[in-house]
Formats: sequence, C-alpha cells, structure tokens
Amino acid sequence: MILILTPTTSPDSDEYRQLMGYLANLPNIQTRIHSERGAEQVLTEIYLIGHTAPLSLDYMGSLPGVERVVRVSQEYRVLGRHKDDQRPTHFDYNGVRFGQDNLNVFAGLCAVDTREHVEIMMRALRDNGQVCTRMGAYKPRTNPYSFQGHGKACLPYVFELGGKYGIKVIAMEVTHESHVDEIREALQQTGNPTGVMLQIGTRNTQNFELLKIVGRQQEFPVLLKRGFGITLDESLNAAEYLASEGNRKVVFGLRGMKTNMGDPHRNLVDFAHVPVVKRLTRMPVCIDPSHSVGTRAGGSDGMLDIMHAVAQGVVAGANMILVDFHPNPSKALVDGPQALLLEELPWFLEDVRIAREAYERRAALARRAASGA
Ligand code: PEP
Ligand code: MN
Repeated sequence: MILILTPTTSPDSDEYRQLMGYLANLPNIQTRIHSERGAEQVLTEIYLIGHTAPLSLDYMGSLPGVERVVRVSQEYRVLGRHKDDQRPTHFDYNGVRFGQDNLNVFAGLCAVDTREHVEIMMRALRDNGQVCTRMGAYKPRTNPYSFQGHGKACLPYVFELGGKYGIKVIAMEVTHESHVDEIREALQQTGNPTGVMLQIGTRNTQNFELLKIVGRQQEFPVLLKRGFGITLDESLNAAEYLASEGNRKVVFGLRGMKTNMGDPHRNLVDFAHVPVVKRLTRMPVCIDPSHSVGTRAGGSDGMLDIMHAVAQGVVAGANMILVDFHPNPSKALVDGPQALLLEELPWFLEDVRIAREAYERRAALARRAASGA
C-alpha cells in the first residue's frame, strides 16, 4: 500500500508526526519513505510493507496528511501501474523529458574510439537538431582480448564535446560501481557541460549489487536493458531493484532476445513488448534496434532491417531509441557491422518522424473508438 501525502505535509509538521506515530503502531507493517523533490514541491510517498490486507483504503485515506492511497499488487511496487494509480509516467533530466508520452532519439557511437569520431558524430547530431546521444566508454565484451573501451580516459573529451555541441544527455553503459564515480568526477572536472544516463547492459540486468548501487544514487537516470535470456518479469523486477533503492528515473530498454534458431538477425526483435511494458509499469520504454538486428542488411524496398525494426517499435509507442551510428564503420572498434552511416542520419530521423506520427494518429483513433465517436 502506498500513502501519497499532500504536497504541503512536510516532515516537521504536526500532521506528519501524527501520521508516523499511527503507522508505527500498526502490527506487522514496516514503512519506507520516498521523497521526490520536483521543481515546485516535494512529493512524499510512504510505502507500507507487510500485512496490509486488513487496512481499509478509506480509513488510511482519512489519516492526517494523506492525499491518496494506492493498493499495490505484489509486482513492481514502485515502478508498476496499480489500480487508480495516478503517479507520473515521466521524469525530467537536464532539461529533457523522458515519458511514456514522448520520444527521444539517442544516436551515437557504440564505443568511443577516437576524439575525432566523437566530434564528427556530435556535430552531425547538432546539425540535425539532436540533444541526446550514446557513447560507450566501458564495453562489456564477449572476448577478453577484444577492445574493452577507453574507460575514464575518454570521459573529459566526450563531456567537453557534448557541451560544445549542445548535447544534454549521453547514454553510457557502466559495468562496475567505480564507473559511476569516474563519470561523476569527470563531469565535475569539466564543469558539468552535459548530462549522463547510466546504462545497465543486458549482461548485467540481474547484477543485483550493481543495481542496488546505481539505484542508491539519484543524480543520474538509468537505462536498464532487458536481460537477453530471462523472462520479461525478471527484467522488470531488476528495474524495480533500482527504484526500491530510491532511483525511479528509470527507462526500460528492449534490445532483442537471444535464440538458438540461426536467426538472420543478431537477436529476435521484441518490440511488440513496448505496449506490454507501458501497461505493466510507469517506465518510458526504449528500443535498441542496433543490438537487436545487428546488421546493415536491407530489404528489397530499399529500407534497412534496422529501420524497419525502429518503425515497429515507434509505431507501437516506444519512447526512446538507442541506435549505433559511426562516421566510418569499417574502422569502428566495436559493432561496426550494425552501425548506420552519418549520411543516413537525416533519413533515419525522418523515418522516425513518420513512424511517430503514425503512432499518434493510431492513439487518437483508439481514443475516438473508446469514446464511441
Ligand atoms: C550496448 O548498448 O552497447 C550494448 C552492449 O547493449 P546490450 O547490453 O543490449 O548488449
Ligand atoms: Mn554495441
């Protein structure tokens, strides 16, 4: 059960003290408090954990300071959608809105290789009106002898160039807690020219200790990728680990599932699950067509398989696209074969706009159908 307090109920108010006193005496109930500081007000939620079944919604709603009460199912307490749950389905970070109702494109380098490539990529993004990108510094590689990423050495120039080209958010995978500190330090040293969304990759979806540490900090939002070989429920619970530790600025990423059936693509595209994740949880949903499809192969209609996959996800309501580009894919140190070319960026963005418009028209049609108009 969640008690959502009125925004005026501060922790030093009488109402708050009375409420906490009452809750402390409830048998077999523990409380967990979550406060979120918005631009204008602090939103406080009290999670009641334990034997909440006998508590009446009406009575709990009449307690001092309580505005609303939500009875949660066992699943995804913080991030889930529950009956009569009007908690937000968006968050803002560094001036960018991440919501279930909008779409952000993160085109960029799978792995940072040279400063020159970072600069060429970011200039192309700026010239095409983009404010987000992906830049991998810490790469989890299957083969221990493969390039592992430049790590913290590249962070200062990546962040400085981000600032120079108006990039507001850089998605960057972390595979160890020390990477979060290195990112924070490099941002401070360069004067916070840009923002970072920490990415937890598919190999770490159930690295619970990493999830807890990344969840305990609230400075950076997190993109959590679905595990490639576990159930959707297991991956959503992994996202809940982040939120249960305090960080609910979480985007959930679909990136294809591993199968052993000799697929033409690197993974089996799972973007039909976009609406499922949006129905079960309040998280914006990201699609990663590059790691799903894994090739630049195209169809007889002239469209690349990656673009078809993007369209499928966007037409289904995706909220973020993480996609690999490279100025010179044959020189890329990681995932060159799936990178789109910089000359293809305007085409890609226009194709995304067409798919998004189709989604919005479909959503409007569904609203009309529901209202009987
Ligand atoms: C990536 O985005 O660079 C990546 C390694 O993705 P995934 O974790 O989905 O394989
Ligand atoms: Mn990659």
